[in-house]
Amino acid sequence: MFAVTLISVALAQAPSLKEARALAEDVYAGRTTLAWRTSSPALRAQVGTESGLLGLINATRGSLGAEVRVITEAMVEKSGGTLYRRVSAVTNWARGMELELAFDANGSLTAMVTRPAVKEAPTVSGLHKTQAELRLPFDGAWFVLWGGRKYDDNRHTPVPDMRYAMDVFIVKGPGTFTGDGTKNEDYYAWGQPLLAPGDGVVVEVVNDSPDNVPNQPRPGVLYGNSVVIDHGTGEFSLLGHLQKGSVSVKVGQRIVAGQQVARCGNSGMSTEPHVHYQLMDDANWKRAHGLPAQFQNFLANGRYVERGEPMRSQVISHRSIEARRD
Ligand SMILES: [Zn+2]
Repeated sequence: MFAVTLISVALAQAPSLKEARALAEDVYAGRTTLAWRTSSPALRAQVGTESGLLGLINATRGSLGAEVRVITEAMVEKSGGTLYRRVSAVTNWARGMELELAFDANGSLTAMVTRPAVKEAPTVSGLHKTQAELRLPFDGAWFVLWGGRKYDDNRHTPVPDMRYAMDVFIVKGPGTFTGDGTKNEDYYAWGQPLLAPGDGVVVEVVNDSPDNVPNQPRPGVLYGNSVVIDHGTGEFSLLGHLQKGSVSVKVGQRIVAGQQVARCGNSGMSTEPHVHYQLMDDANWKRAHGLPAQFQNFLANGRYVERGEPMRSQVISHRSIEARRD
């Protein structure tokens, strides 16, 4: 009913580079006029109104910050339409962002997407065999939302220190929480004990970063509360987004694998309680490069893994040596 009343002022042909560029500039500026005028009926139906389109534009811009300069732009032929691709330097993402505007054969805007311009940070550690003896840093069954070596499996991969990081949640039934999910306490992962993945010495502790209200991440304090452990092998484990005040180890303290170090929280750039884990080649994540972390003795989707890297969509749980003998 709604779509029928629309008067679509489509371009009736593929947009010129200049037209697409003007649209991209509107998207980066958070303006809707041109984008609304160019939107396909399907896109209009999807967003409902011009203010709904603004929501999509804002979601597309995400937390990129402002566009600093255009690096490349191009029109790309695609079956049934055209794509405009624009790679830009932006204030909040060191490696640049790609904005993609899709047009149908009539020249109407059908979709807009952003993604990191570099999907996988360059790494020299692809063949790295984890030297420390690592176990999963929790007991019980956890779901890997992002894990693996490719961007499609792991949204961490563009960032050098997060190159091989993983995000894990607890999922029961359809989701990660009970109730309405507006409180951290609603989430299964909230407050779960987190354990040292390996023996080592604590080299950094942040314990005073506030926990977020779910879905209101706090930019600027990336990992929030965190613990960094030096395994003595040139490898350092970082556990992030920990619950405020829950870190129970001190800098300089020697700890052993499986020892509780904190509780799962929702601090830093986190939308809901979960664990961020990464292995690094330096104690300081700001200059570290990520290393592949091969954990030992765990179940992945029910199958025993003696040594391996958790992957996206797996349910993983630590399996003790004792359990293996059963
Ligand atoms: Zn993460």
